[in-house]
Amino acid sequence: MKIICIGRNYADHAKELKNAVPEKPVFFMKPDSALVIKNRPFFYPDFSKDVHHEVELVIKISKLGRRISEKFADQYYSEIALGVDFTARDLQGEMKSKGLPWEIAKAFDYSAPVSDFVKLSSLEEPQGIDFRMDINGKTVQQGNSRDMIFNFDRIISYVSQFITLKTGDMIFSGTPSGVGPVQINDHIECFLEEKKMMDFFVK
Ligand code: MG
Repeated sequence: MKIICIGRNYADHAKELKNAVPEKPVFFMKPDSALVIKNRPFFYPDFSKDVHHEVELVIKISKLGRRISEKFADQYYSEIALGVDFTARDLQGEMKSKGLPWEIAKAFDYSAPVSDFVKLSSLEEPQGIDFRMDINGKTVQQGNSRDMIFNFDRIISYVSQFITLKTGDMIFSGTPSGVGPVQINDHIECFLEEKKMMDFFVK
């Protein structure tokens, strides 16, 4: 199982990090060792002093495919979850300034908590999915899938031109604006439409 993450997929978030809005999807990967399930805690790593939250919609690949055309991409996923793309922003800044890869800032242990998956067809508004993250009871990020620069079909089609997608692979689809630091003992809750999907602590 691999985790593919799309960067800069919401214009307001690209702007807040002073990044250009991309013409093609930008993606990177996290290893399976980054995955955290069942609301287990996120353990704050000792190599960073500025770990940021990025709440994202996550889709799960339901069949093997490569070089998938955008037209047929919707046959490759049917379930959605929420995930947090934890990012060591200080390390990422260092790597970005040198033009080096981001893995140490993005792919570390516990950097990818993911909720349970639900059927996309069970959502009230599958074409415009609302989601949000609260920290200690206060909403810090809010998004809607309509605001994605590249939709799920486009992402699947693009990524699969380079990398074979396998059943069970997960795709983090990018974060809306409002990213910011987390602290030890923070209580994190994430909602898909009005349903609470994640409820965990930073330790
Ligand atoms: Mg992200």
